[in-house]
Amino acid sequence: MVRGLVFDIRRFSIHDGPGIRTAVFFKGCPARCAWCHNPESQGMAPEIMHRPSRCTGCGECVRACPNGAIVREAEGVRISRDRCRACLTCVRTCRWGGWETVGRLVEDQEVLAEIVRDVIFFDESGGGATFGGGEPLAQAEFLHALLDGCRDRGIPTAVDTGGFGDEAVVLATAARADLFLYDLKTTDPVRHLQLTGIPVEVPLRNLELLVANHRAVIVRIPVIPGANDADLD
Ligand code: SF4
Ligand code: SF4
Repeated sequence: MVRGLVFDIRRFSIHDGPGIRTAVFFKGCPARCAWCHNPESQGMAPEIMHRPSRCTGCGECVRACPNGAIVREAEGVRISRDRCRACLTCVRTCRWGGWETVGRLVEDQEVLAEIVRDVIFFDESGGGATFGGGEPLAQAEFLHALLDGCRDRGIPTAVDTGGFGDEAVVLATAARADLFLYDLKTTDPVRHLQLTGIPVEVPLRNLELLVANHRAVIVRIPVIPGANDADLD
């Protein structure tokens, strides 16, 4: 049994690889991309997330927080992350669901049981399971247990990664996964470091490793206006 931290498991996805897929989103990523659309997926531990649409601005959580981490604003409340100790008092206090926990520890068998439910749709559509994040390579043991479990059950797999892992992890993952969805931000060394906090040599080296090992790789370049849409990119 292997446990890992996930922030979502989404069934019937059609945007995370070929066919109909179950997408498992790992929580935790070593990169800090400026445009990350899932910033709550970055931390390597469960954390809390505010839901402004549910917040009435009553201020109960401000009074309840033992660390003074929630402050009032003109249109509701805001969290000061450096003060938060993840005690979850605010989650329990807000009766409107204005705070949620993001990330939960799950066992590999629990995730596999969820994936297996949709085998019939995978078979009909050429789909399977996709492991993304966050950065799935950051939880290698958990990722490999899931890939092995899918292979044992005849379920095709894809790993949606930014290539942020060491060589040994990449090679061990390459031996298990059917497909890599490889998100490359830019090949410019200076801009890559600025945009992600990671040297570009890491994802480029790992991409070469995958290709050299004859793995199926789809390289995707998310075009972010103002970040990587210059002519040089
Ligand atoms: S998050 Fe909940 S408790 Fe806090 S101000 Fe909004 S409604 Fe009130
Ligand atoms: S989790 Fe605890 S410390 Fe963090 S904002 Fe909520 S009440 Fe405050």
